[in-house]
Order: sequence, then structure tokens, then C-alpha cells
Amino acid sequence: MPDRRVLVNLRGLLTPDPARAWAVDRIPDAVLAMEGGRVAWLGRAVDLPAAWADVPRVDGGGAWATPGFVDPHTHLLFGGNRSGEFNRRLHGVSYQQLAAEGGGIRETMRATRGATVDDLVAAGESRLRAFRERGVVHLECKTGYGLELEAEARLTAAYAELKRRGWSLDVTLLPAHDLAPEFKGDAEANARAVAEDWLPELVRRHPGVARFCDVFVETGVFSVAQGRRIFAAGKRLGLVPRVHADELTWTGGAELAAELGAASADHLMFCSDAGMKAMAAAEVTPVLLPGTTLFLGMRDWAPARRMIEAGCRVALATDFNPGSCPCVDPLSILRLGCLQLRLTFEESFTAMTLHAAGSLRRGDLGHLHPGGRAELLLWDVDDLLELVYWVGEPYRPRFLPT
Ligand SMILES: [Zn+2]
Repeated sequence: MPDRRVLVNLRGLLTPDPARAWAVDRIPDAVLAMEGGRVAWLGRAVDLPAAWADVPRVDGGGAWATPGFVDPHTHLLFGGNRSGEFNRRLHGVSYQQLAAEGGGIRETMRATRGATVDDLVAAGESRLRAFRERGVVHLECKTGYGLELEAEARLTAAYAELKRRGWSLDVTLLPAHDLAPEFKGDAEANARAVAEDWLPELVRRHPGVARFCDVFVETGVFSVAQGRRIFAAGKRLGLVPRVHADELTWTGGAELAAELGAASADHLMFCSDAGMKAMAAAEVTPVLLPGTTLFLGMRDWAPARRMIEAGCRVALATDFNPGSCPCVDPLSILRLGCLQLRLTFEESFTAMTLHAAGSLRRGDLGHLHPGGRAELLLWDVDDLLELVYWVGEPYRPRFLPT
């Protein structure tokens, strides 16, 4: 069979094990047998079954092999950027002041509303290439900077085109990302429009593009009750909930995610102990976004260790977005997982591969056990710990030749 290959000449291979929540296999002198783009066998070279003896070899060049990163929380598509505002913020202008001047998310909303589908696809493709060359092989990406039906529809159309071009994406509809200015602070009317008009219309125009829906549940944005109503509408359309939860204050977002059987609850800097236990029991993946905490200059790191102790399968993501984390670099997040969330290297790595994929309900990504997609990275380092140890080093993985 032409699509059978064996990857040889590796220094080693490191992969999470999908059968055990936090176990990592570290196999020296490993080989990996692949068939049809999937892993068929992995182990030490001396143990390779005889059936693979005459199969074509691929030379790993003495690298370490790992599964590719999965990024389970990005706001990939938006118009413009906010670098000018960033400098003003560094010099003491508050987020509230910028918002009062029409900056912040409103600035991105205007630029996004002014963008064509072609503009959005072009920006998206260049960002996806940047993620890819840093080792991200699959991403979740959200709409949400349109804040009105037509702009949200253009964002959804742009994601459909990126998927058609072969990018490996899961799309989340987030028209409830903030209050739209047209509703002049009436969150109740805004939530009703999202639930009754926008979500059904987005799914009708672009069937099969989105798998998930999301709501920013936060004090001053959408309440738990409004979130519940929007998620119920999403579920009727076949969309699985993901929740922006407990980011700036405790609102009970994690508890809501558990009640809904959501795939994930994201941010969670102010998550309660009851919320952690509820997420563990309901198998909701907490998706933590330490790059955002860093970029906003906050000190409230999400309680990752307590979540793991509560039984949660914690995931990490970039939260790539123009306002609070314009970061496409998985190694930066891996390092923050170790340095600020107090995860071991193995835990941080598992959170960005196996559990990130789990939060997207994709059992064939984030590991290199049999059945997994052979989306693997080759790292030219003596030891993988160097990826976090040499803090500023811009390591880039190699990919298998296709
Ligand atoms: Zn977000």
C-alpha cells in the first residue's frame, strides 16, 4: 500500500496517552508506523513487528517526535488590529477610557463590519500559516467581532472558505461576544435577537460549518439566565456549548457549563471550587488562557492545579484575539503553563494536545497512539524540556514530508 510509512531515526517520541488522563509516554529510540495518515503502531525500533519490515522509511533526522498542538480557543478572524491602543494602555489609559472613546472591541467591530469575506479569508490564511509553522495543526475559531447578523454571516462564510481550502478547524458561533451598540445596553433584547434570529439564520445560511456556540457570560455583558437561553437555542440547532466563563468576576459560568453539558468553559480565573467539581463531574474541559492574563497585566492566574486536583482535564489555549492576546505562539503558552499555572512540562504539554483536542471532542488528535491522526512535529533538540527552558528561543518544528 503506497500510504504506509515508518518514521525511523528518532531520538525519541513523547505523547500523551488517551487512555490515561495525565500519563505521558516518553519512548527513546522510537519508531512510528503510519497507514492512511493515521498511527498504526508506535514503540521502540527493536520491537517493530515484522509486517512493517519492507514498508518505506521516513528519516526523522534524530529529532524528538510529538503530536501537533491543538489550539481550542482562538478568535482567528477580525478586521484591523489594536497596536496603537496597546501603547496608550501601557502609558496608563484604562480599558474603560478607551471603550468610552469608541476604542477597544468597538474599534475591532467597526473594522470587521467593514471587511469583505475575501479580506477576512486573506487575513485568516496568513494567521493560520503563522500558527502552523509554530506547530499548531488544528484550531477552534470563533465569530464574534461582527455583533450583527450580516457581519457574523461574512465571518461564518470566511471560515467555510478556509475549511474548503483544507485548514483543519472547528468553528464556533459567538454573536453574543459583547453587547451590540444597536441595543444600547439592553442585554435582554440583544440575547433574544441572538437566540431567536441570528443563530438560526447563521446555521440556515451556512449549514454544517459551525459545531459549537459560545456566549460571553460576565457581569455587565450577558447574565447566566441570558446565556442559558442562547445556549438552548444553539442546542436546538445542533451546536454544542462552549462558555466564556468567570473571566473578570465570578458569575457561575463554570456551573452553567456543567449544567448544560458544555464541551468547555474558558478563562475561569474566578472559578469557584463548586464550579471546578461540577465541571469534573460533567466532563466539561476547563480551557485556560494564561496569555490573556499576561497581556492584560493581571495577577489572577486561573487555578489550574486546584482544577486538576478536582479531577478536571485542563486544556490550554492562546485566546488569539486583537485586544487581549494577539499571540499565535504555542510555546509561549506552554511556558506560561509551567511558569505561572504551576503545571509540570508534561501536564502543560498534555493540556495543549490531548485535553485541547478532548475539549473539541476529537479523540484522534493530540496523541500518537494507534488510531490518532499522524499530525506530528519533529523537534531538533536534545531534550524536549529545552522548549520551555530556553525561554525566548523561537523553536520551529519540522513536519513529515507529504
Ligand atoms: Zn475568547
